[in-house]
Amino acid sequence: MIFTKEAIMKKAEEESILFVRLQFTDLTGIMKNLTIPIDQLEKALNNEIMFDGSSIDGFVRIEESDMYLRPDLNTFMIFPWDQNMGKVARLICDVYNSKGESFEGCPRNILKKVLKQADNMGYTMYVGPELEFFLFEVDEKGNPTLMTHDSAGYFDMAPNDMAEPARRDMVLALQQMGFEIEASHHECAPGQHEIDFRYEDALTAADNIMTFKLVVRVIAQKHGLHATFMPKPIYGEAGSGMHTNISLFKDGKNAFNDPEGKIGLSEEAYNFIGGLIKHARGMAALTNPTVNSYKRLVPGFEAPTHVAWSPKNRSPMMRIPDKRGISTRVELRNPDPSVNPYLSLAGNLAAGLDGIKNQIAAPEPVYENVYELTKAQRKEKGIVDLPNNLYDAIKELEKDELLMDMLGDHARKKYIAAKIEEWDAYRSQVSQWEIDRYLTSI
Ligand code: GLU
Ligand code: MG
Ligand code: MG
Repeated sequence: MIFTKEAIMKKAEEESILFVRLQFTDLTGIMKNLTIPIDQLEKALNNEIMFDGSSIDGFVRIEESDMYLRPDLNTFMIFPWDQNMGKVARLICDVYNSKGESFEGCPRNILKKVLKQADNMGYTMYVGPELEFFLFEVDEKGNPTLMTHDSAGYFDMAPNDMAEPARRDMVLALQQMGFEIEASHHECAPGQHEIDFRYEDALTAADNIMTFKLVVRVIAQKHGLHATFMPKPIYGEAGSGMHTNISLFKDGKNAFNDPEGKIGLSEEAYNFIGGLIKHARGMAALTNPTVNSYKRLVPGFEAPTHVAWSPKNRSPMMRIPDKRGISTRVELRNPDPSVNPYLSLAGNLAAGLDGIKNQIAAPEPVYENVYELTKAQRKEKGIVDLPNNLYDAIKELEKDELLMDMLGDHARKKYIAAKIEEWDAYRSQVSQWEIDRYLTSI
């Protein structure tokens, strides 16, 4: 949707909008907003709305805390729910500092910076994300429990799939928010679901991921349920991934497609894969950014554990789906929905572009199930593990100059500090597993 300032003012009046939520995302991937009454909209569209950035994770110190929100006019959208209480609209914003410079701690600005580099090389990045999530029952006070909403499995139908009405309302709300929904279904684990939406340019895709999570959670709540995008909420069941389908376009054509190339892929595609493989371990701190992310990356649940690619097999980190022509793409399988989508996509693109710029060769693809290869076989093929935990991933990120540069001085310091704090808080806990294992045996 392309909007002008005047068109938004007119639309707001025609639709009798009462409030506008000015949204942005903090470094750890949490959506924040400042709500303004409609008589402040013109001021907002003139980039005059200021807020105190000092309490936002990864933003600034108290003494330099005045920040400005610059709405991206193309993101104007009316929320389809609760309209009888007066309509509410949203605008997704970029964060600027008081000197009028784009703020380097704003994840959306970081993605834009990498998109600009791609643009300078003639590329546009398109992304089709596949988010999975769980629905849990809530208790009488409305707090989430660990009881899954149903016990159904992959592609099951009602009455076993008890979420048909909730998923239907999620799809309808998403459509009203401008999404083109391709499919929705029950996933493998009890209470687990997936709703797939159409690919878009990378910035829109990142905005859509944030909006998708909001809509799914709001609509679940209206159905008396709790939706979570936590990567691995239940031990012993499949976790939730966010497969990220990536393609590059150049001169209006899919740059990964080459009918003459080996398995129909271009040199650029092979180099892009080479770049993703080279940076995979450091990139994990962005694609799998929480303590819990690493509980998903274990064998046996269709989640990847190794840095490798395959034209077919779903066990490695990357797969090339069958389709060619304009649909030629790589499917990155390790990202999960706890990501900050702006940083995760920025990392994917920076890594892939590095591959193209420096003609990094893709390793040989693997055709077998990587889980079943022995350590020696993996070593022979040069296949390394994805990091085992958040701490290792952060250490790998620190070693990855390209990704550290991409984040910039401010964001990398704040991001790493936040993640180390998260890891330290986790590792000092004493878990039930430890009690069960050691209390009576030692
Ligand atoms: N839930 C799996 C994961 O953790 C993915 C299942 C699928 O292939 O859709 O990545
Ligand atoms: Mg799935
Ligand atoms: Mg997939």
